[in-house]
Amino acid sequence: MSPKKGIALLGSTGSIGTQTLDVIEAYPEYFDLQVLTAGKNADLLIAQALKFKPNTVVITEESLYLKVKNALSQEDIHVYAGAEALCQVVESNEVDTVLTALVGYAGLKPTLRAIEAKKTIALANKETLVVAGELVTRLAKENGVNIYPVDSEHSAIFQCLVGEFHNKIEKIYLTASGGPFRGWTNEQLKSVKREQALKHPNWSMGAKITIDSATLMNKGLEVIEAKWLFNLKPEQIDVIVHPQSIVHSLVQFEDGSMKAQMGLPDMKLPIQFALTFPDRFKTDFPRFNFMDYPQLTFEKPDRAVFKNLDLAFKAMDMGGTAACILNAANEISVEAFLQEKIKFLDIAHINEATMLEVQVVHNARYEDFVKSDELARICADKIVKTLSKS
Ligand code: NDP
Ligand code: MG
Repeated sequence: MSPKKGIALLGSTGSIGTQTLDVIEAYPEYFDLQVLTAGKNADLLIAQALKFKPNTVVITEESLYLKVKNALSQEDIHVYAGAEALCQVVESNEVDTVLTALVGYAGLKPTLRAIEAKKTIALANKETLVVAGELVTRLAKENGVNIYPVDSEHSAIFQCLVGEFHNKIEKIYLTASGGPFRGWTNEQLKSVKREQALKHPNWSMGAKITIDSATLMNKGLEVIEAKWLFNLKPEQIDVIVHPQSIVHSLVQFEDGSMKAQMGLPDMKLPIQFALTFPDRFKTDFPRFNFMDYPQLTFEKPDRAVFKNLDLAFKAMDMGGTAACILNAANEISVEAFLQEKIKFLDIAHINEATMLEVQVVHNARYEDFVKSDELARICADKIVKTLSKS
């Protein structure tokens, strides 16, 4: 095997995907980019393939196969299409690490296949752990696979734990920016427009996670992600709003000592750490300057207005496929909001109603997660249709 680290980048055309390519490009002697995959953005996938010359590309949208194949016909690049191809390409012998930057439930299956093929996982796709955290972490343990977090809060916790893995965590604090509607009332939120919700104060991200940040669902998903990544009980996880997004999260140990990881908000750092751990590579990313931030502030999240956060805690308490159901409902409700079929406050309403309606399966196997996801989508879809008519 080549001494370089072979990387499969799932979701290379997205926000995390393109930033991962910036990181990889900076260290050609260290990374060997093997696989690039896109959903529908064939033009960007083609441009990336021509620039980075991976061994393989996958376009998930099958109708775009010929377009990609023809554009790359002069290159020594394998071209595949479809969701099953995503699962196969991660198994290649040349791949050491799979960075999962797909959005949503679609990330689950290829991540499971990568774990079974004993690939190291750099996990951006938090929905994978939300949907089936118990299954994913068990399989990772059985296969001796490490899952390194890309999500900035979880990377922060992970960085605080380096050198401390044998010490018990008393508690973690996940920080949240509060999103564009921090401090808003229910009354004000009633008339929120799509464009307002898509404007995040501190981070530039894909549409789905940007809406999730505005509803605090993102923090709810991250609480569940943290539970599985760091093997915590729900009561060991707290959320604190920190509008400046400089302290990326904190760990409190059993002696009461707290460690925080800080820096300017830039996803390239956690992406890079997930790929280079345990090493830190020199970068020219902008450095934090205390004088630019005379105040770092912290406050409680408003759980009465932003109901999704409590729904995530409820799903953890319920266990089984409850978080899978919540995730599916949220994918449907966010998409409906992006298509301007429902209002901003309907998102949490649909998520809650779907959780009440769809039966949770305990001791779930993979097929149970697939079924719960499907039933929750049908249920949430029905509510969307009713609401969009009213
Ligand atoms: P984007 O929407 O920007 O990108 C998503 C990527 O996944 C694109 O490459 C897209 O392809 C591909 N994709 C979407 N749907 C499918 C599908 N059904 N099958 C195959 N490929 C698909 O998302 P982000 O980069 O913002 O987020 C990716 C993940 O990382 C999410 O889970 C998010 O929660 C997480 N994350 C993101 C952060 C950020 O700063 N963006 C921060 C922390 C976590 P195409 O565009 O070609 O259709
Ligand atoms: Mg995050």
